[in-house]
Amino acid sequence: MTHILHRQINAVLPVASGGKGIELLDSNGRGYIDASGGAAVSCLGHGHPDVIAAMHRQADTLAYAHTSFFTSDVAEALADRLVADAPAGISHAYFVSGGSEAIEAALKMARQYFVEIGQPQRRNIIARKQSYHGNTLGALATGGNEWRRAQFRPLLIETHHIDPCFAYRFQEAGETDEDYAARSAQALEDKIIELGPETVMAFVAETVVGATAGAVPPVADYLRRVRQICDRHGVLLILDEVMCGMGRTGMLHACEQDGVAPDLMTIAKGLGGGYQPIGAVLLSRKIFDAFASGSGLFQHGHTYICHPMACAAALAVQEVIARDKLLDNVKAMGAYLARRLGERFGNHPHVGDIRGRGLFMGVELVEDRSSKQPFDPKRKLHARIKKAAMANGLLVYPMGGTIDGANGDHVLLAPPFISDLAAIDAIVERLGEAFNQAF
Ligand code: PLP
Repeated sequence: MTHILHRQINAVLPVASGGKGIELLDSNGRGYIDASGGAAVSCLGHGHPDVIAAMHRQADTLAYAHTSFFTSDVAEALADRLVADAPAGISHAYFVSGGSEAIEAALKMARQYFVEIGQPQRRNIIARKQSYHGNTLGALATGGNEWRRAQFRPLLIETHHIDPCFAYRFQEAGETDEDYAARSAQALEDKIIELGPETVMAFVAETVVGATAGAVPPVADYLRRVRQICDRHGVLLILDEVMCGMGRTGMLHACEQDGVAPDLMTIAKGLGGGYQPIGAVLLSRKIFDAFASGSGLFQHGHTYICHPMACAAALAVQEVIARDKLLDNVKAMGAYLARRLGERFGNHPHVGDIRGRGLFMGVELVEDRSSKQPFDPKRKLHARIKKAAMANGLLVYPMGGTIDGANGDHVLLAPPFISDLAAIDAIVERLGEAFNQAF
């Protein structure tokens, strides 16, 4: 009998009792390869001694001091590091406790920016279908996953959703990547014009779409066009890299691979690697300057912003990634994972698409490969795969298809950056077993 309100009320969950490297252990001593890092969180794996030591040191020094009275050396050091490594124009970091809080803060920064510069009529948010930006009300309103939003719709601020850039589902036969990039970016400009550019505040997008569609990267040139359209109409570009960022795609920020710098960027998950709950908004100089020369205040805040323990864990995680050159490993192991998935599932009758970047890969499952018809959602294929994978000692992140049928069930893989060839082989092997049992 549990007194925790678990998400699945009647699910009987194994008890996680430990973790070492890429494996988690349950209280029966069973090991599971953590091939999704939870939800793309555990980028360094489990029990990393350097991160644990840094957390001990911080606990011995200072666990908490409220930010209306103090800053702390560790939060300052983390901000220095993130800004030094950030895309062009980013000048400051704002630390929160997770991804949803980061999105809420980014939306409020965007709104306050336009109030400060005398354009208070800018309030419209444009985002994309098949996206996820978190579960708090502002983040849920921004996300385009109808299944999550449906019952809460009366509570959600108005947001305008356009089609994502999702080649497997929306690129037409014979359409070049260049033409598709232009067409899908044009959907943003059309929406801005329809709403009236002077009313539009921000466009919000995941650089590489994570949980809702399964590691969908944009086609080349899409984000560059999006950036130009935002600039043309004075709209802020908010890139959500909560899931795909902090090295997961092989570079620190996924948008670097697209040659684009946002006005605001949200990060979380891999920032602290699960050792502490932490997220951040990285904001550009123009937004900071508008606050600094305007009201001199960001009208927002939570009790645990800049939490020293969380910042210490994140700083240690980021130092280990740089010291051990783990982004090189993400690139190498990502290429190997893509190859192995292709070899093993490329001809599978129910694997429609294998896609992603770095150690962030998605496998989309379909009833019929030629028509791309998704499985009937009632079949709950994703849940069967998750169960079968766990029975085979593997943790993956499967999700159901969207209710409008725009994409099918998929499996998201986001193994730790420390994975080696043997780990990747074992992941692909165990996933194959899970597919055999689940279909
Ligand atoms: N944004 C993206 C892209 C995410 O994938 C998530 C979580 O999965 C969030 C925001 C919300 O983050 P959190 O669950 O830490 O609130």
